[in-house]
Amino acid sequence: MEYSEIIEFLQDGFQLVTNYVTSPGKRTYFLYLITSLALAYYVYFKSKRKESFIAYIMHKKVWLSKSAFVDYYLIIFNSFFKLILIAPFLLFGLKLAFNTNDFLLAQFGYASFSLTTAQTLILYTISLSILNDFMTYVIHLLFHKIPFLWEFHKIHHSATSMSPFTQYRLHPIELLANNIKGILVFGFTTGVFDYLSEHQISKWTYLGVNVFSFAFYTWGANLRHSHVKLKFFSFLEYIFISPVQHQVHHSDNPKHFDKNLGSRLALWDWMFGTLIRSKQVEKITFGLGKEDNKNYVSFFQNLFMPFKNIGNFFFRKKS
Ligand SMILES: [Zn+2]
Ligand SMILES: [Zn+2]
Repeated sequence: MEYSEIIEFLQDGFQLVTNYVTSPGKRTYFLYLITSLALAYYVYFKSKRKESFIAYIMHKKVWLSKSAFVDYYLIIFNSFFKLILIAPFLLFGLKLAFNTNDFLLAQFGYASFSLTTAQTLILYTISLSILNDFMTYVIHLLFHKIPFLWEFHKIHHSATSMSPFTQYRLHPIELLANNIKGILVFGFTTGVFDYLSEHQISKWTYLGVNVFSFAFYTWGANLRHSHVKLKFFSFLEYIFISPVQHQVHHSDNPKHFDKNLGSRLALWDWMFGTLIRSKQVEKITFGLGKEDNKNYVSFFQNLFMPFKNIGNFFFRKKS
């Protein structure tokens, strides 16, 4: 690797890091952080606290704790990890779309109808959003229920304080799994819609922020990883996951384990019996519980503990 290539690599990596607040495709885009702040003010106002709003939001524990620094280090580490291991495979999604379309043509011939441009955009956006959300639920469920996957997902749950950046506190292995899921869902859905529609809408418009993501991001998605207790109307929490519902997912109380696994829609949790609504819960402490928290304090512990635990598991089995 030449000197100029190393510089370019570092620049690309750091651009990915800054993307977290400058790209509308990221949940922590500054505009969404501002709308979340407004909603946080509403919660603060209603709770009639004595401390100032700034003190409520800018808690040292939230932004400068050891747990928060693990979030920041993981964001930087994962940005470079993505550059090396994930970026090269993004084009695979387009190839999969092309192959899906080809497969459908070979199996069924040309479709007897074709969607209009408007129909394509609307149906495509809805299908992609729902399928993606459902698959996110399934993958999340697997990461909780399959012991060796849980070892990797634990890193997300080892946060003892939460800021919007905790959203991205993921082990690189989980990041990889999430990206593969995203590519497969995108490729498959795009292929099906290519088949059903003759209107060639640029694939790249699909990759932009769709109206559903925009609505989700501006309505307090950032408060899910925070101490701000924003609830939805109780009936709405059967359909959409509220910030408090995701906070319950991070609770160290065994009663709350493996609950509220949904990303945007609570429907899947409701259907599969893993739903808890805000009003069913009183106090929440974040983390894995006192004993386990001890093993996940530093960045390196979080990065390597899963491999150590999986290793121990196999070693024990053999002896
Ligand atoms: Zn989880
Ligand atoms: Zn979370």
